Amino acid sequence: MAPSHVLRCCQRGLAWIPVIFIALVVCWSYYAYVVELCIYTIPSTGEKIIYLVVFHLSFIMFVWSYWKTIFTRPANPSKEFCLPKAEKEQYEKEERPEAQQEILKRVASSLPLYTRTGAGAIRYCDRCQVIKPDRCHHCSACDMCVLKMDHHCPWVNNCVGFSNYKFFILFLAYSLIYCLFIAATVLQYFIKFWTSDLPDSHAKFHVLFLFFVAAMFCISILSLFTYHLWLVGKNRSTIEAFRAPVFRNGPDKNGFSLGFTKNIAQVFGDQKKYWLLTNLDYIFLFPTSSPFFPFSLPPLPPTLPLSLYPPSIKFSLSPYPYP
Ligand SMILES: [Zn+2]
Ligand SMILES: [Zn+2]
Repeated sequence: MAPSHVLRCCQRGLAWIPVIFIALVVCWSYYAYVVELCIYTIPSTGEKIIYLVVFHLSFIMFVWSYWKTIFTRPANPSKEFCLPKAEKEQYEKEERPEAQQEILKRVASSLPLYTRTGAGAIRYCDRCQVIKPDRCHHCSACDMCVLKMDHHCPWVNNCVGFSNYKFFILFLAYSLIYCLFIAATVLQYFIKFWTSDLPDSHAKFHVLFLFFVAAMFCISILSLFTYHLWLVGKNRSTIEAFRAPVFRNGPDKNGFSLGFTKNIAQVFGDQKKYWLLTNLDYIFLFPTSSPFFPFSLPPLPPTLPLSLYPPSIKFSLSPYPYP
């Protein structure tokens, strides 16, 4: 095996360490809450049952959304964004960047592309050999171009983007509920152990730590969750929040915004009953890459300025087949 291959395998293995760490913390929190707190510490049967039911509901939703965020493959650009064979050969033979841009422009004229590089050129990934659709970025960790890339998250060892952004937001929401519920219900026993109202036992260590860990995670998740809700409301990815996308008329940080309600629908879907779960269309139509993306958009004639178009047809980058 080539040394570079071995190195790549090692990197891939090491990338799972944060996920394993989170999984171990979650397993311990389950044991500490269910066994040490509910079974050994809480005297009232009624209280025990209520706590266990609510705990398991939040635990299941948290683990499910975490699982989906980790194991949903990032969506890649569809084959329409690859250069046709003749143009590809021409592009590879050509050494002058201006001539390469001309080839890209010719191919891109039939694609619904609105964004450009900072210098006004067609965005092209040399590594994946593909014209980058709007909001698509190359992730060096995943070594692929990812549609509507938000960021590469080490805690889920996956790219957060078009295919799993909703799962990521739900993961933040459910992990926040999970930690808040633990912190709120453990607090009174934490105080009782701290003030020695409860006798010293092996449960004491677990209960004290359970409160500290849950409170610590609450604070860090809350800030991240609030930031991402703000991004959803503005229809911006984390990358776009740091660097405004460049359109034909120049950079515009609000270029993808369709208005608050539609921005939310782009991530969560337009059926409110699925907002906290998932949409079956989403599972069946977009397991890897979207056949609709982004061809559900009517192409814009290049002569008209972007601002003349009604917002409803400006950008539809939702993982759902409806705008
Ligand atoms: Zn790429
Ligand atoms: Zn990535």
